[in-house]
Amino acid sequence: MDCIFCKIVNHEIPSEIVYEDDEVLAFKDINPQTPIHILVIPKTHIESILELDEEAKPICGKIFTAIQKIAKEQKIEKAGFRVISNCGEDAGQEVKHLHFHILAGQKLGTKIV
Ligand code: 5GP
Ligand code: ZN
Repeated sequence: MDCIFCKIVNHEIPSEIVYEDDEVLAFKDINPQTPIHILVIPKTHIESILELDEEAKPICGKIFTAIQKIAKEQKIEKAGFRVISNCGEDAGQEVKHLHFHILAGQKLGTKIV
């Protein structure tokens, strides 16, 4: 499949992995918008929030458990962080593999990303 994040999961494209378990992978964004910018993805290919059917929905719980662990490991749980998932054209979703941005390391203000 011609999906850049599937290639990252399969180690066909290198990435700076910060968290990995059987179903979830997290790695540093190649073009960070904040001092800490991490992408958290399911290892299976799911296009976006809209593709989360009943079978796939449990992955979201696992992703958010991973986000909790990453926040602690990155020591951003006290200062805070923002989680974003872009879905579709108006949101500017570039990569059609479900992902959650963790943005942190600075005051984020009220602007979105
Ligand atoms: P989207 O706009 O789809 O929500 O976000 C896609 C994100 O993936 C962007 O922030 C972009 O910088 C990041 N990205 C795209 N290609 C790569 C890549 O090959 N490696 C990594 N680490 N991040 C990528
Ligand atoms: Zn994919």
